[in-house]
Amino acid sequence: MDFKPLSGREFPRFSAIKTFFRLPVAEVTQAFDVGIFGVPFDGAVSYRPGARFAPSQVRETSSLGRGFHASRGLQVFDRLKVADLGDCPTVPIDQSQTSQRIEDFTDRLLLANKRFLAVGGDHSITLPLLRSVHRKHGRVNFIHFDAHLDTYPTAWGCEYHHGSFARHAVEEGLVDPHQMIQIGIRGPFVGKDDLDFARQKGIRVFTIDHIRNGSLADFLNGLPEFTGPTYLSFDVDCLDPAYAPGTGTPVPGGLTSYEVQRILRALRVRKLVAGDVVEVSPPYDTSEITSLLAVDVLFEMLCLMSAG
Ligand code: MN
Ligand code: MN
Repeated sequence: MDFKPLSGREFPRFSAIKTFFRLPVAEVTQAFDVGIFGVPFDGAVSYRPGARFAPSQVRETSSLGRGFHASRGLQVFDRLKVADLGDCPTVPIDQSQTSQRIEDFTDRLLLANKRFLAVGGDHSITLPLLRSVHRKHGRVNFIHFDAHLDTYPTAWGCEYHHGSFARHAVEEGLVDPHQMIQIGIRGPFVGKDDLDFARQKGIRVFTIDHIRNGSLADFLNGLPEFTGPTYLSFDVDCLDPAYAPGTGTPVPGGLTSYEVQRILRALRVRKLVAGDVVEVSPPYDTSEITSLLAVDVLFEMLCLMSAG
């Protein structure tokens, strides 16, 4: 199988069975490089649900995805064999069972030496994904786009929720806090000690003010280089709600779609082993604005993977 998207010039983009980027559906045993799969779970959100519907909506919207990156000058589907692996099994009313299923699904994929992109789901899904990645690659570099720090404490007596995954990832030793950046962070915070965890662990936090106060070019030039195995997690609420309204916990004053593109294009990542796009909530997504952006982020991540 050549793992090419179905041509829009043969079959119109509004036709055909919907898969990510109109790619073939594959089994893990087949000869592809990168598997894209859905994780339709939103049982760990603190506010608006709906992210369980993102994988099917992003598949639908990705019919508009194309393979040639204009500014990078590369045809990503010539460089990488990419497949749609379907959806990871989930249990909509049980987060711990869902986490176990995510780890089992991802372990199988990584055992077969594949890379992956996961489409959430709420941000709680990143922790089991990182546990699997850690078993395969050891402690990874971590690039985290978000309005929120996601290093928050227990809520309603529950340790695991979509606002605590990053704290657990550091505490479990899955990611290297000194090779971890958070991009797009902004208030309001719950309290003035919200940033203490990042400070104590040595995580670099790039707030929206860091990005906007000077020129974008200066900000991009100051981004660190990542050499070892790296994971990129993209929470769409890093964008301003004007650019990504379809999300569970929107925060005004965020990034624009173009700023996100520029940052993703400027990242110097030698070895992107896995990534995810989370927190797209189709019921709140006017005109599919947010799922279109998610498709673009997946495309940029594929381009990053094709480089190393
Ligand atoms: Mn998040
Ligand atoms: Mn967030």
